[in-house]
Amino acid sequence: MTDQAELAPFAEGGCTCRQVRYRLTSRPLFVNCCHCRWCQRETGSAFAINAMIEADRVQLLQGEVEVMDTPSQSGKGQKISRCPNCHVAVWSNYAGSGDAVRFVRVGTLDNPDLLPPGIHIFTASKQPWVLLPPGTPAVSEYYKAAEVWPKESLERRAALMGKRK
Ligand SMILES: [Zn+2]
Ligand SMILES: [Zn+2]
Repeated sequence: MTDQAELAPFAEGGCTCRQVRYRLTSRPLFVNCCHCRWCQRETGSAFAINAMIEADRVQLLQGEVEVMDTPSQSGKGQKISRCPNCHVAVWSNYAGSGDAVRFVRVGTLDNPDLLPPGIHIFTASKQPWVLLPPGTPAVSEYYKAAEVWPKESLERRAALMGKRK
């Protein structure tokens, strides 16, 4: 059973050359802002903002993505989906959550302001000039979703894990 209202298009995004366009059909499960050195290096910036969402809630509207195997901090690797033309990364899949959850790069949304971080992670390596907003949870490394995510997102995650069995 799917709630139709929940599946109304939530946001669209894409790469820089506009060959790849995608749509999120609902709010994501949660948004992590990661300050680890790996994300800093991959983005060439101070942090990465990842919206975690069920893969079947990401519709490819146009183009195809090229999936690149890329090392990750866990040692298990991540698969980064990029535009084959301009090579901008639109989302990743990590070994931990597999293909079922995409980590959509919030900066590729047409309106990235829609998804501010729900938590700041790996703040141990946060660049010192970055000042975190006081109202948002922040942890030095990682966290347990059960302690931070809203109930609705935990239920969606449980449904996903049920499907994988
Ligand atoms: Zn492109
Ligand atoms: Zn990171």
